[in-house]
Amino acid sequence: METETETEKVYIALGSNMGDRESYLAQGLARLRRLGAVSGISRVYQSEPVGYADQGRFLNMACSMEVSLNPFELLEGLREIEDALARKRLIRWGPRTIDLDILLYGERAVTTPSLTIPHERMFQRAFVLAPLQEIYPYAEIGGVTFKDLLEACADKDGLSLYRPDRDTVSGLNRR
Ligand code: AMP
Repeated sequence: METETETEKVYIALGSNMGDRESYLAQGLARLRRLGAVSGISRVYQSEPVGYADQGRFLNMACSMEVSLNPFELLEGLREIEDALARKRLIRWGPRTIDLDILLYGERAVTTPSLTIPHERMFQRAFVLAPLQEIYPYAEIGGVTFKDLLEACADKDGLSLYRPDRDTVSGLNRR
C-alpha cells in the first residue's frame, strides 16, 4: 500500500551580512532544498542593520517550501545549515554569515521557549515582510494584509532591492 507523506507549506527568511553575502544566500538556499521542495523564491533586498548598528548591511530574501518535517525538526535543519556555513553567534542581532528563520509553518502557531511561529518580530520588519509579500501576496493576519503591515514598518526606508537590474543573484534560480 502506498503511504502519502503529509507536507506543510512553510516560509523561511534568509539573511546575510558577512563575507560574500550573495554566496551565503545561494549556499543557504541550496541546502534548504535538501530539507524539502522549494516552491517560491523572492528577490534579494538590502537592509540597514536593526538592533546592533555597528555592522554591515544585510542581504535578505525569503522562500517557500513544502516540508514533511515538523516545526522542531525544521528548526534543527536550519541550525545545521547555519552551523555548516560557519555562522558566528558572538553578538545578539550582530553580524552573521547566514541567518535562517521560520516565518510561517502552514496555519500553525507554536509558542515555546525555543521556537515561536509566526516568528516573533516578523510583522514589524520590512526586510522580512517585503520579500515574503512577493511570494505570498495575499497573506494577512487578523484581517490586516502583510502589505499594510509592511507600509507601517519603521525600517521601511532603509530597505532597497539589491541589484534591481538583475533578475537573479548568482547561483539563485528564481524557481
Ligand atoms: P537568531 O539567531 O537571532 O535568529 O535567533 C535564533 C534563535 O531563535 C534560535 O536559537 C531559535 O531557538 C529561536 N527561535 C525562536 N523562534 C524561531 C523561529 N520561528 N525561527 C528560527 N529561530 C527561532
